[in-house]
Amino acid sequence: MTRRFALIIDPVPASEERADYSDTFTEVDAAAPALSVGELSTQRGDGVFESIGVIDAHPQELVPHLHRLAHSAQLCDLPVPNVEQWRQAVRVAAAQCPPGESVIKLILSRGVEHGPTPTAWVTAAPASDFSWVRTEGIRVVTLDRGYDLGAAERAPWLLLGAKTLSYAVNMAALREAARRGADDAVFVSSDGFVLEAPTASLILRFGDRFVTPAPNGGILHGTTQLSVYDHLASRGFTTEYAQVPASDLTEADAAWLVSSVRLAAPITAIDGHAVATDRAFTDALNAYLLSPRD
Ligand code: PLP
Repeated sequence: MTRRFALIIDPVPASEERADYSDTFTEVDAAAPALSVGELSTQRGDGVFESIGVIDAHPQELVPHLHRLAHSAQLCDLPVPNVEQWRQAVRVAAAQCPPGESVIKLILSRGVEHGPTPTAWVTAAPASDFSWVRTEGIRVVTLDRGYDLGAAERAPWLLLGAKTLSYAVNMAALREAARRGADDAVFVSSDGFVLEAPTASLILRFGDRFVTPAPNGGILHGTTQLSVYDHLASRGFTTEYAQVPASDLTEADAAWLVSSVRLAAPITAIDGHAVATDRAFTDALNAYLLSPRD
């Protein structure tokens, strides 16, 4: 698809149930001017978002993404999203996506300064081609995130578990990783535990046991990680959430960064230490992630 477009959503309160919300969506070309200069999402990054992988016009893991959007909104004291309205907006956008991989983003902003309502929209665009990283893998470096594991609970105003629009820090971490000769980063807490990547979750393999950092230390609970865990459990593997000391990273038999659009990217090196990869296993994981998932 070369066409990029957005549906501007006229937000209906969650309490106002309707069967059909299609008259609340206005389609615009992605290049068309659509936002006010007073928009708080652009002025302060004050809002939340989701990125959904779309395969052959099917939005993957739609319900978990909608739940996480609502959870992020709650953490940010934004009005409760009308989940059914968002679901219909994604369905309308996805139906226009061509065969192959696309990405739909959901954006809920605090709105225009002094304005009465939040601003909401979804965008649809072709996904980048990640076939190379899914097979050849990525080198990562660990980067100190500067917070200890207790920070999320001690200081909820840091919004550590919310998917906010303020991704400048995450993008800076990716640039730092590139400066250090790597493709991606893994954040580590100031007290030495593994967290997540700037735009992905980390899954480690130790024998037949799979471990991911527990999502209570101020990291996002990844929809892809959850889906991969269901899949691994159905194949008889043990899946665990744990506090993972950074020193365990190089002990792993294999490791992946997983996320909604790139899917499973095998890690080939951590801070310059080679990590083993299992091509057939990763291919099977990505075949699963590319299959229709609800
Ligand atoms: N952690 C962070 C900080 C992210 O930005 C993302 C995705 O963008 C993830 C984890 C993975 O989440 P998901 O699998 O739902 O894409």
